Amino acid sequence: MRNLIKGKSGASSELQVGYTAKKEDHKEGDVWEENGKKWTIKDSIKQTYTKLDEVKKEAILPLFCPCCGNLMKKRNDSKMYKIHKMCFDCVIDMEAKLKNEGKFKDYERAMVASNAESYIDDLEQYLLEAINQSNTQYVSERGEVERWKGGIDTEKFLNEMRTNFVQFRKQVDNYKHNKTDDQA
Ligand SMILES: [Zn+2]
Repeated sequence: MRNLIKGKSGASSELQVGYTAKKEDHKEGDVWEENGKKWTIKDSIKQTYTKLDEVKKEAILPLFCPCCGNLMKKRNDSKMYKIHKMCFDCVIDMEAKLKNEGKFKDYERAMVASNAESYIDDLEQYLLEAINQSNTQYVSERGEVERWKGGIDTEKFLNEMRTNFVQFRKQVDNYKHNKTDDQA
């Protein structure tokens, strides 16, 4: 918290809002670990490094399925490859096998949880970017004094956001492990 305030009272280039204390040590292009995730600063916006990495990987769809070796040219292949790293036919085979082994319910639960997790990550990323942007605009249009005023709102928002996202992730984790809130 002390550092959030410190960041806001400095030059506009130091206005990296985020959750934790260490952010003022980071500059454009840095990569560091925080809350079990890798982060970086790109175009002055703090974002998850893993995310950028994944986007790069997903952009490259191999010509052949790593699982069965068939050419991946069917309509659902690229979509399935992004999720499962195999072609559509292989996914169907895998799911049939899981059904036979009675493991399909667990698998389905894990897939739903994983979708929810990436939705939460995206939402968090979007909100952090939005805060960073609105902060910058605020600074350039007004001045030092009113930036401080806006900064306090940002701080409150970040606190609420952190509380909410901790809760979201806990709920997804409970769902994934088939727990009710009482057991958590
Ligand atoms: Zn395949």
